[in-house]
Amino acid sequence: MTVPIARVAIAAPLHSLFDYLIPAHGDVPVGARVRVSFGRTRAIGVVTAIVGESGCPVDRLKPIEAVLDREPLLQSHDLDFLTWVAGYYHHPVGEVIATALPLRLRKAEVALAPGGTGWRLTALGLVRLGALPARAPRQAEVLAWLGGRPDAEASLAELRAALPDNAAAIRALRDKGWIEQTTLDARADRMTVAPEGLQLNDEQADALASLQTDLGGFSVSLLDGVTGSGKTEVYLQLAAAVLEAGHSVLVLVPEISLTPQLLQRFRERLGATVRVMHSGLSDSEREQTWHRLRLGLSQVLLGTRSSIFTPIRGLGLVLVDEEHDPSFKQMEGFRYSARDLAIVRAQRAGCPVVLGSATPSLETLRNAQAGRYRHLRLDRRAGGALSPAVDLLDIRDQPLQSGMSQLLLDRVSAALAQGAQVILFLNRRGYSPVLSCFSCGWLSDCPRCDARQTLHKSSGLLWCHHCGAQRRVPLTCPDCGAEDLHPLGQGTEQLEDFLAQHFAEYPLIRVDRDATARKGSLDRLLDRLHKADAALLVGTQMLAKGHHFPRVTLVGVLDADGGLYSADFRATERMAQLLVQVAGRAGRGDRPGRVLIQTRYPDHPLLQTLVRKGYRAFAQQALLERQAASMPPYSHQALLRADATRLESAQAFLDQVAGWARQQDVAGVELWGPVPAPMARRAGRHRVHLLIQADRRDALHGLLQQLPAHAADMPTAKRVRWSLDVDPLDLY
Ligand SMILES: [Zn+2]
Ligand SMILES: [Zn+2]
Repeated sequence: MTVPIARVAIAAPLHSLFDYLIPAHGDVPVGARVRVSFGRTRAIGVVTAIVGESGCPVDRLKPIEAVLDREPLLQSHDLDFLTWVAGYYHHPVGEVIATALPLRLRKAEVALAPGGTGWRLTALGLVRLGALPARAPRQAEVLAWLGGRPDAEASLAELRAALPDNAAAIRALRDKGWIEQTTLDARADRMTVAPEGLQLNDEQADALASLQTDLGGFSVSLLDGVTGSGKTEVYLQLAAAVLEAGHSVLVLVPEISLTPQLLQRFRERLGATVRVMHSGLSDSEREQTWHRLRLGLSQVLLGTRSSIFTPIRGLGLVLVDEEHDPSFKQMEGFRYSARDLAIVRAQRAGCPVVLGSATPSLETLRNAQAGRYRHLRLDRRAGGALSPAVDLLDIRDQPLQSGMSQLLLDRVSAALAQGAQVILFLNRRGYSPVLSCFSCGWLSDCPRCDARQTLHKSSGLLWCHHCGAQRRVPLTCPDCGAEDLHPLGQGTEQLEDFLAQHFAEYPLIRVDRDATARKGSLDRLLDRLHKADAALLVGTQMLAKGHHFPRVTLVGVLDADGGLYSADFRATERMAQLLVQVAGRAGRGDRPGRVLIQTRYPDHPLLQTLVRKGYRAFAQQALLERQAASMPPYSHQALLRADATRLESAQAFLDQVAGWARQQDVAGVELWGPVPAPMARRAGRHRVHLLIQADRRDALHGLLQQLPAHAADMPTAKRVRWSLDVDPLDLY
């Protein structure tokens, strides 16, 4: 007699599922969560299948302790997708499935109701509708808006979409007793697709028309549009068509806090059905959003990379904005690429996926050129704005003040005098990347990494950007005691100091991770800029992402050289993408823009091609170089990383894995290493790498299939931490 057995995925670093007995009178839906005993503890897991036989003897199986969900949270197609993902990345399936659940559902037994909380008018508030508070216009606005809603109530998301920035007004109204918090029934967001889109130019219209013919089936398109060419309008009109057909849309974006304008446009056009998922939400907000998408109560999810795992009812379109952005790749733990998975997910859902970028990744361009993706181009800026003119500024032999040459300073003065706004781009935060003693040559090395600690003057700290180690800035040299410490090189903090003195009469805004650490501060900074006339904006790559600055006519890049001679073969591609994205901030209004790039290598061939002929010519040349060197996308890689407190332990482990891998003798697979990582010590641990490369993906995966199990069994594995990174984006 066979006994029904539940196969359960549990978040544990083990490449297997676990079997449990089903209680006699229990109904155990596949895709529901269960509580089970696991080792010496209890765990929450997800039932992935009901089977008749187990690899274990039945009398050794334990029963499920409790079934936590009456309905499945994950459908069988969600589970199939996640299982495929675990197989592709050779990552434990239990951890992959746990990643798909909101954090709260991984710990709490009772799932939240999808309706969520909202606000409604009290009896007192209803009375006040007749006499709105004239001296508090914000409060009056909220009162009037709620009063116009069915039952005078709305969810938080609806309220935020309709009236952003109203938190203070809501608190005031609550304190007066005019509104109160309420639990809402789970009901679908009302469809509010604003039909009137912007007028499309011919290129946009053609792109939209071809994308529309794809709806209803799987296809991959690259929407390759120069900055300012109006990709967002194409996304919006395509998404509206999908919603009108009754389907849902997943929009993946690099970082929500950096793309407030994109979110705002989606909300304005598609209404409250647009939900967001990002790290700034509370656990309950995330869970409620997750349920709403799963149940089809909301139909648009705009989110960062982990949103790729959100179950979405009736998925009809996947959009990946800024597909080249490295933040789509999870760099630790379960290392997946949300951009790559977007294609797999769309294929399984039978719907189109659109990858949009002004600077497509070389991987995506290669796929488009090989005919695997449709290549749609938008070469003209929407609204007739001119493309900026880009020039290289040779700074060899030029005296620099805080990184600025005299010529760049003169251009900035001239632009400000004409009432324009100026962006100065320096991709290094802090005051200076190293502090040095001029008497003895001491440098501010991080005690735990092969790296320097950055000087942060305003907080008085030396701070390692790799491991986070901090110490007070010493007044005298720690080695020789001399009072001869000097910052070397520039960061945004120093540039800001310098510019504040030099251009004291103009507003100056700094945008980097330190300046925008507090929630909402980026919005406030950008708001200041939008209200100002002539102004200076200093910042890191945060500036490059999707913001629209119509009054910026000059962009100065202080240092383009970091990416030119790096050990990482992707560094030039990154540098080119960043330069083009930053340059794209110039001249988006009716005034033409100008971009000046300071460099000590004005003759570098890739930099020359980029500046003279543009990103596409650059990408073509870079692809030829990759092909000649058999680098991705012309080969496939996996990186096995190991670290340990002793270098020998990490080395011995990877030697053993490499020995095993060589024995397998898989045709077409090459092993490079083990070698010390480019940053050989980080956070006090020694790091060693083994790079595995193959010209065919199936050959690579043939070897990887067996690798984790064998590696885990190596006698040397106990002394190391190790991880496998399939399709690594950085080799650090
Ligand atoms: Zn010294
Ligand atoms: Zn460090």
